[in-house]
Amino acid sequence: MFLNLFFSKKIITRFAPSPTGELHIGGVRTALFSYLFAKKSNGKFLLRIEDTDRERYVKGSVEHIIEALDWLGIEPDNHKNIMIQSQRLDIYKKHAEKLLESGNAYICVCSKEKLAADREKQAKEKHPPKYGGYCREAGIKLEDVSGGEYVIRMKMPLSGKIKFNDLVRNDVEFNFSLLDDQVILKSDGYPTYHLASVVDDHEMGITHIIRSDEWLASTPKHIVLYQMFGWKTPLFAHLSMILAPDKSKLSKRHGATGIFEYKNLGYLPEAIVNFLALLGWHSKEDKEIMSFKEILKEFSLNRVQKGAAIFDIKKLDWMNSHYIKEKSGNELLMLLEKLYGKESVGDKNLALKILDIGKMRMEKLEDFKILKESFDLVNYDTKLLIFQKNKKLFKDKNWLKYSLEESVKRNLSEVNNILRNISVQNFNKVFLEQKLMPFADKQSYGRGEVLWPLRVALSGKEKSPGPFEIMHVIGKEESLKRIEMASEKLKSVLG
Ligand code: GLU
Repeated sequence: MFLNLFFSKKIITRFAPSPTGELHIGGVRTALFSYLFAKKSNGKFLLRIEDTDRERYVKGSVEHIIEALDWLGIEPDNHKNIMIQSQRLDIYKKHAEKLLESGNAYICVCSKEKLAADREKQAKEKHPPKYGGYCREAGIKLEDVSGGEYVIRMKMPLSGKIKFNDLVRNDVEFNFSLLDDQVILKSDGYPTYHLASVVDDHEMGITHIIRSDEWLASTPKHIVLYQMFGWKTPLFAHLSMILAPDKSKLSKRHGATGIFEYKNLGYLPEAIVNFLALLGWHSKEDKEIMSFKEILKEFSLNRVQKGAAIFDIKKLDWMNSHYIKEKSGNELLMLLEKLYGKESVGDKNLALKILDIGKMRMEKLEDFKILKESFDLVNYDTKLLIFQKNKKLFKDKNWLKYSLEESVKRNLSEVNNILRNISVQNFNKVFLEQKLMPFADKQSYGRGEVLWPLRVALSGKEKSPGPFEIMHVIGKEESLKRIEMASEKLKSVLG
């Protein structure tokens, strides 16, 4: 056992995104699982940029991928020396020609029009698209095509089956008769994904290829390429799809898909990592909240599910609110400033008080904006100061000793008296509640008679945080000022 461990090869995994725009949240899960699997056994996790499809290349996406992984704490071991496929064109060409020499590949000069016509016919006849094999035995040599257009195709076996054991999907089998003579080198001299991926995985010493299962159908072609080169085939683990709750493919229609969209909405990296780790994997005890360290300790491909994983944004929101609650006010302020700028936070002391009261209700950092506004006073109609339940009771009992407005004014003035006697130091939610509730509870028609007008006086809104919370945040001076304004408004109604 010891000897086995001692001599066993170090695990090396990789993440090989194509720089075609913003990194998709599903891609991040692939990166995370590859990282966890390698790091769990002290192995290496490498990054490779697959940018050989120049038509789909989006400028800036490489920097973006690196930044996203860094933000999430999924750091590649080769971060100073990332493999970039477009810088290795000679190497792929050399390998394609090697396969030509060994008879495992051939030159194909079929025109685009001919191939398109074939594909159209196959589609009509409901057959899968497949190359007709015209050049397979034609023996075209490189000298014959110098200066002209050609591609290089690999020679797939014509019959039989290929079987392999996938670490997630177990035994997988494909019929060669259904597999195409795949192009490995395109007419522009660029390799296709298949050739580049196999050459690079071999050169990087990748032992385990962990990727999404959209690549499962390519795997038999890759295994054949390994065999043609005489290289050791790595192990494969294909991760199931991520679906939306309605079981359709996760797309823009379901909300954010790019990792930076999530960042900008105010999701914390801790929450994203925790959430993505549980998309298709679970811990032994089915724990929900898990730190990066805990996940790393427990991760195993044995518990990666075969079936599709469902992306439940409500769960992510719940996790995010958990991680927000765990942060101190100062930590949250720093994050808010970094994300939305200093102006978004405004006065720091006020912002800290807002967070103190409101962070329990925040699901995302962006909720801070609405939270902050909920403590602002807005213009309001004087009638809003009257507690509606109170109005009804007045009418029922025909109790007209005071007008409703008068009664509100009296109550606010009593509140004012109580507040004036509370020191600035004691002006906090708990103390304010202690001092004001006995007065509110004394009212004949319930505490709402005091609490409603007070809350409206402080916020001007039909819905807002409670009066004690608002006063805690805005402080003594501002609270008294707002109550005074309400009294003035009532005065002008009462005449
Ligand atoms: N470049 C492929 C992608 O964008 C990688 C496939 C693989 O991991 O082999 O997903």
